[in-house]
Order: sequence, then C-alpha cells, then structure tokens
Amino acid sequence: MTGEPRFLPGARLWTPWRMAYVGGGEREPGCVFCNALAGEDDATSLIVHRGEHSFAIMNLFPYNTGHLMIVPYSHTHQLMDLSQDARAEMTELTATFCDILQLAMNCDGFNTGMNLGSAAGAGIADHLHHHIVPRWTGDANFMPIIGGTKVLPELVAATYAKVRAEVARRKSGAGTIDVVMFAPDQPGLYVAGDDLPAISLTDDMPAWKSAVTAFSAEASVCGVLGWAGRASTVADETKWPALALSCSPRAGNGSSPYRWISFEQASALLTDSRYGQVREAANRLGMDTSEP
Ligand SMILES: [Zn+2]
Repeated sequence: MTGEPRFLPGARLWTPWRMAYVGGGEREPGCVFCNALAGEDDATSLIVHRGEHSFAIMNLFPYNTGHLMIVPYSHTHQLMDLSQDARAEMTELTATFCDILQLAMNCDGFNTGMNLGSAAGAGIADHLHHHIVPRWTGDANFMPIIGGTKVLPELVAATYAKVRAEVARRKSGAGTIDVVMFAPDQPGLYVAGDDLPAISLTDDMPAWKSAVTAFSAEASVCGVLGWAGRASTVADETKWPALALSCSPRAGNGSSPYRWISFEQASALLTDSRYGQVREAANRLGMDTSEP
C-alpha cells in the first residue's frame, strides 16, 4: 500500500444506518420502494438508476457493502404480473450492476436472487425485488454469528457515490470527473485554478479511485464522503459525474495545484450552477456552509 493515501472510510467500525433497523425503529408508512420512487432526491433515496420499467436502489440495511436491489416500478409481489419487457430489463440491470459493482467495489463474487413472499424471507414482501450482494473472499467471518450484526467497512453514502459515479460515467461517456474536495476541519473547499478539480478517468480504474489517487500526492488522508452530483438520476445523462471527497492536505506543500477557499469565496468564483451543486452536496453531507 506504499504510495497510496489512507482511505478514511476503511477504518470505520461504525454502522449507524443499521441502528434504526437493529433497534427496531419505526417503519415508514407505505411501501419503501414506492416512497423512494415518489421522492425528488434520488441521492437521498439511494436510487442509483431509473430505467424504463425498473430501477436500482442501494439497500439502506445492507447484508454486505454495496448491496443493491433491482426493483420494478409496478408495486406487485408476483413475477407474472410484470411484462416480459420488465422482467427482461431486470435481468439486464442485474448484469449491468454486477459489472459496475465489480469495478467500483473490487469484489470477488455476488449473491443475487429474489425472496418471493414473507415465507421465503422477503423483508418487503408486497413489492418484489432482486438482490445483488457483493462478496469478497473471506467476508463471511465470525462477526455475524458472534456479534449478531455485521461490521461494514464503509458508510452507505460513500458506497452510493462510488456506484453512482460509475452509472453517470457510463451514461455520459465522460473521460473526466469533476470533484468537490472538502477539507474536514475548515468550512470550504479546494479549487484548481478557477474551477472544481477535474480528474482524468481510465477504463480499468473506478472513478472514485482515480479521484483519490489524483490527490494522493497532495493529501495525507483522502476518502470518499458522498455524492456531489445532481440529485436526480434522470437529468444527468450528459452531465459529468461528481464525487465529494474529504482531504487533509499535506503540510508545507507549496507546489500544490489546489488551493483552499471558503464557501463565500466559492460563491464569487464559481458559476451559479457549479456553486449551487457544491452547496447542495455540502448540505446533503450535513456540512455547515454558513459563513462565520
Ligand atoms: Zn411498492
């Protein structure tokens, strides 16, 4: 691992998104899939793709990191209720997302399949869904048995961003990715020249890793925080994907191409749409963007 930056999320043994589930928190009224579809903000709903008949959504209570589901738009528990086109698209999306997860998560295999009916173990029995669970050699360790829960090495927001970046890249065919690089201890971000840093992509490396690697010479610690692109998965076909990173710059590096600016300075420097995107990402990630 020499020469590679440390990845912030790798050290986490903290799974707060499971607490509502493990602790028996209140279930939202209605169907979670239909509610997610009706929402405006796909990045908050964890929807990574909307197709013609079905969509792909990350599991908020994952069995393993990167667990996502292919779900038909139709609220039904019967496969026979779906059109042949819908069933075919679900199979196509399963193949596509296995490919995307393999690149984005570097996993070794997958469990995929459906639990039809609560007797078969379906958590949401009324609205059928196809699971895709990434697997790594040796991931079935003692923790689920001894601890009664799984320890996931990454927050869902970061996994969502990694997967969404690959989806957006495929839709746009983009050769570069623009990133919002926040500093963890200062309310502001880094720019290159007068704009957000643009990162070159290669076919064999996930977009998030290209971004983190690009900053490795500048940053002592660098990791993916979440998605900084458009909230809607439909509107961004021709837009660049955009990741939010957190980077602590190395001390004493006077030759860095990046410079830190406050949110107020960013509002004057960046175009309105760029700055709007930055503010939206910061708010989604729970950052305070108000000036002192
Ligand atoms: Zn539903």
